[in-house]
Amino acid sequence: MKTILTGIRSNSVLTLGNYLGALLPMVRLSNEHSNNFNINIFVPDLHSIISDVDGSLQENIIRTIKYYLAAGLDINENVHIYRQSHVPAHSELCWILNCVATMGELNRMTQYKEKSEGKASCNVGIFDYPVLMAADILLYDATYIPLGEDQFQHIELTRDIAERFNHKFGDIFTVPAPTREQVAFMEVDEPIRIRDLQNPEKKMSKSTAAENSKIMLDDEPFKAAKKIMSATTDSFEDIQFDFETRPGISNLLYIEALVSNTPLSEVIAKWQGVSRYGDLKKEVANSVSEMLVSFQKRLAEISDEDVLKLLEDGEKYANHVANAKLLEVQTAFGLR
Ligand code: AMP
Repeated sequence: MKTILTGIRSNSVLTLGNYLGALLPMVRLSNEHSNNFNINIFVPDLHSIISDVDGSLQENIIRTIKYYLAAGLDINENVHIYRQSHVPAHSELCWILNCVATMGELNRMTQYKEKSEGKASCNVGIFDYPVLMAADILLYDATYIPLGEDQFQHIELTRDIAERFNHKFGDIFTVPAPTREQVAFMEVDEPIRIRDLQNPEKKMSKSTAAENSKIMLDDEPFKAAKKIMSATTDSFEDIQFDFETRPGISNLLYIEALVSNTPLSEVIAKWQGVSRYGDLKKEVANSVSEMLVSFQKRLAEISDEDVLKLLEDGEKYANHVANAKLLEVQTAFGLR
């Protein structure tokens, strides 16, 4: 059985953008494929500590798993949930792969360039995390890794590392599918991108300071509705869907389609040419607040004990699979 592997780094409460763009598509993909694929969902907590953490990491880890469950993840014997830091083989394989990857390759990573830009000094983790990511993937022979576009370069790096290793030692690693196949597998025409409510040229991000710019999954529903009502639109006279010229109103149509699970073409057909922007805002505000009410209700029903039980099972499985792969690698190098 092939493996689909995914994780969402969660150093804080997530936004509506994370939910619609990452969490929900993954939950749907998992529910659709968990009869004929292994689905590995892990919390990349070792990746979290490359940024400053503020004492709430433990709480965030448990909450991230609750998010998957509240978003509707079906659990069966093929779905495995685990914490990266509870499977020590990730760190150990990362070290070994550090001796396979090259400085030149890591220096070329756009994410590293962006994250280190303008900083007098940055931690080694920011430079090295693509290698940890390669270990996360290769330990489980994962073929598909649903990820945002910003991570495609890291998938290609993982493929290069795996091919180099296999060339020297024999076919020990499964080489993940190339990015175009990954995209085809996810069956999305283009990645979902929810925009900032105040500045719709940018994507909605949890790191944006302005509260009105983003909807957080723990926002009180009436507060979220207010944020939608005050979203920036445009000064044209009627509603049209065009991200180039009218990003604000297009973002609202897009959110409405995703939140109400209606085809975008239907939402556009309903609102195209209408001049009452306020009516559309009311409808979107309503849909978002209803979604938050039911999401938050489901979240409150999941206990820490439920999560810990799932993790216990998932980590038993993950350690078993990962240790077997690590032993093959250690043996190939002569470490065992
Ligand atoms: P980040 O919050 O940037 O660490 O991203 C975590 C995941 O959420 C990644 O898969 C992103 O592609 C996705 N994501 C973050 N922000 C948005 C957004 N505004 N719209 C859609 N997806 C997003």
